[in-house]
Amino acid sequence: MTASDVLLEIAQQAAECQLCELHHSRKNAVPGEGPADAEIMLVGEGPGFHENEQGRPFVGAAGKFLEELLASIDLSRESVFISNVVKCRPPGNRDPQIAELEACQPYLERQIQAINPKAIVTLGRFSMATFIPNAKISQIHGNQLLVNGRMIVPMFHPAAALHQPSLRPLIEADFKKLPGMIAGAGNKTDDMDEKPGSTSNPEQLSLF
Ligand code: URA
Repeated sequence: MTASDVLLEIAQQAAECQLCELHHSRKNAVPGEGPADAEIMLVGEGPGFHENEQGRPFVGAAGKFLEELLASIDLSRESVFISNVVKCRPPGNRDPQIAELEACQPYLERQIQAINPKAIVTLGRFSMATFIPNAKISQIHGNQLLVNGRMIVPMFHPAAALHQPSLRPLIEADFKKLPGMIAGAGNKTDDMDEKPGSTSNPEQLSLF
């Protein structure tokens, strides 16, 4: 199977998925979208109202800001793969629950394996915690971390930056650092922090 085939299969499975409660209230699953050979994968939290309506990730206000952030480093949203830790909308945009995150995790895992991106940018704390448990976003945002051999760059969620204006310059500055990090990905691992926690958590190890 090609990477595109795997992504298509995941999208079809997510559309019919009943592994957690979120399937009851979803209109559309939002598996994610982008090129199967994307160098950068962005992983958000979960679909909101507009994403649930359209079946596409980051199409609301946060998505507009995300597109601006990408444009600031000469990237289009079509050039990156955009996904979420949960593929169906939590009702009322509540936080995803542990059972929902766990049920959905294999989809994200398979997307990452298929795409094999140079870097994964996590957007918000639920996405960050999937790769780097117990980290504090305020301490590690904008830094590149090596987790099981892959570059992870935790960032604030664009929606948080919209609601809390003081975060806006921080996420803008973090995005500006991304091209330099990507350019060095794969051959400059020595200046990345190997996250000690990532090797002591078997669940995370089995992930990626
Ligand atoms: N917020 C997210 O985390 N993901 C989306 O797809 C949209 C908004």
